[in-house]
Amino acid sequence: MFKRILKHIFLILIMLSSSSAFAFTGYVSGILRSYNNLGQYCPDDLSRSCVGSNYNESDANSFQPLRHMKVRLYNGNHLIGVGTTNIAGAYLIQYSSPTVPGSLKIRVRLEHRDGRFRVFLANGHSQNLDYTSSIVYWNTSASNPQYMGTIHWGSAGLPIKGANIYEGAWRTWHYAFRYSAPIGWHFNNVKILNGTSGNVSSSNEKKISILSGSQFQYHTIAHEMGHVGSSAATNGGTFDYPPNVYCYPNTSGTNCNHTLSSQEWGSAQFEEGLATFMGMAGAFDPSSHDPIYCIGQGEDICAPPSTSSLSVDLETSLGSNCTNADRRREINSAKYMRDLYDNTTGDGMQISFSNMMVSIHSFYNGIGSSTGNHGKNEPWSFWKTYVDDFDGRSTRDYRYHIENDHSLNTNFIYNLNCNPVGD
Ligand SMILES: [Zn+2]
Repeated sequence: MFKRILKHIFLILIMLSSSSAFAFTGYVSGILRSYNNLGQYCPDDLSRSCVGSNYNESDANSFQPLRHMKVRLYNGNHLIGVGTTNIAGAYLIQYSSPTVPGSLKIRVRLEHRDGRFRVFLANGHSQNLDYTSSIVYWNTSASNPQYMGTIHWGSAGLPIKGANIYEGAWRTWHYAFRYSAPIGWHFNNVKILNGTSGNVSSSNEKKISILSGSQFQYHTIAHEMGHVGSSAATNGGTFDYPPNVYCYPNTSGTNCNHTLSSQEWGSAQFEEGLATFMGMAGAFDPSSHDPIYCIGQGEDICAPPSTSSLSVDLETSLGSNCTNADRRREINSAKYMRDLYDNTTGDGMQISFSNMMVSIHSFYNGIGSSTGNHGKNEPWSFWKTYVDDFDGRSTRDYRYHIENDHSLNTNFIYNLNCNPVGD
């Protein structure tokens, strides 16, 4: 009897002395959702085809999964486990805690599971969504985890802006960017700031700023993602020729803004059209007949171009006018690339997103003479006083590369745009 008590005391002493090796382990699971208020969906109830549209009315104004997001689990302030959500917002996390947790806290920081992008507050601080359970189950396992239920963040009256930006960025990544190898190599740790003073992308810093008031504009988010995607495809390059030469016929970029149908120096126009094409490739599969790009229009649906000048059909639009012979339009650039991509009857060249980005990569990294016509460093032709296609890194130059890469002639779709000049 006495011996047995001694043995017990001895065992307790061993347990106490080896407390550093103690770990309380377990598993938790659940589903994460947020109220999706993202606008600019395809309105299936209007007389518009939503065939090939990836974002439709049925996806909007409802709780949607927080997809492919990193999930963290805390005991107090101690991180004890990390997991990820699947496409349905479901997660399973294995954890190990040095003490028995008094509670379990789920935290998402609006970060993509593979570190592709993360949404931050405007000041660069982390935006955290937390949920704490004061109940901790013992003896859980992967097949019998502690189920935390479905967590709903935000509401119809107060949707979480950062989570909505994440949704727009995720859609662009999931439906388009992930199919491109050159983008996959370099699109990492992209910082998206929520609620800044302007919608801009800084390619070199891999940073996107979404203007306060634009957080529910899916197409704006997608376009800005397009700029960083363009930079990733070229490994840090940009098609803007320095110094930013923007508005035809001015020769300096000062105070020059671009519009879909303004005449611009080739490279800036190409970069803007490319960003729009890349963003909208996520919104509309090649089979879409009505790839309509919306500028602004907040949380509303994307109105048909017949009723709003802020809606542009990337299949049919020529911009507001097409009286001058020019190819310097952002819309021409986006529309040409859309026709390369689409597989609808008539004008589609059916080139995959992946192959189109391979040509962006080869274009920027130079096929042929780097300073000659179509070369990556073809100089801006400052001596030209009329509209031409000579400028480096223009839509015409991209055309040269995609035709070269695929032994194609795309003259037909190129000429569906405003009148061609020069080469
Ligand atoms: Zn832009």
